[in-house]
Amino acid sequence: MSKVHFELEKTIYLMDQLAEMPASQIAMAGRSNVGKSSLINRLAGRKKLAKISSSPGKTRSLNFYMVTPGDFYLVDLPGYGYARTSKKERAQWANLIEIYIKDNDWLRAVAVLLDSRHSPQKIDLELVTFLQGIGMTIIPIMTKADKPKQRDREKVRKQWATILDGQKPLVTSAETGMGMDTAWEALRAAVAK
Ligand code: GDP
Repeated sequence: MSKVHFELEKTIYLMDQLAEMPASQIAMAGRSNVGKSSLINRLAGRKKLAKISSSPGKTRSLNFYMVTPGDFYLVDLPGYGYARTSKKERAQWANLIEIYIKDNDWLRAVAVLLDSRHSPQKIDLELVTFLQGIGMTIIPIMTKADKPKQRDREKVRKQWATILDGQKPLVTSAETGMGMDTAWEALRAAVAK
């Protein structure tokens, strides 16, 4: 794998700043604690690029990482589904994400992170259904693959493949580095599309 360079270029809190990011984008979404920060750090080969959440559900910004080679943004979306978030916060998340995803000509795909240890959860299904509904390319990525037994992991993978019309999620572990090359290939392929 060629050396990858990551640079945090911009953190966005207000939606009206979005128009200023003219380059291909791949967004990463997932429930709080799914392992999104760890995966981004591992993909970047850096330990502390994305902040590993000490208090889940607190990230409310969109972080744009310029990735070279490839010259695209990997966009770290705020995690969703944290148990203690209020209704109002949840609505704000949905609103932010919907505006970002729907009105974005630069967005090539959304990588949806799925915990290898759990069968499809309602909140993940809601996101997937929304993305399918608007015809957005989905890159399903299972995280924490080192945790469950391989047999259980494959079961979860099959469940997702059924939901995703046969598309099998990638299997990754930020802990062991498993699946990183494949994940890069999938991200790059989506940018090149
Ligand atoms: P985020 O909230 O989605 O950004 O999740 P984090 O990256 O902060 O990870 C949440 C917790 O899961 C942390 O305690 C991580 O150390 C742990 N974690 C993340 N990825 C992995 C993985 O691949 N394997 C294992 N065993 N633990 C992981």
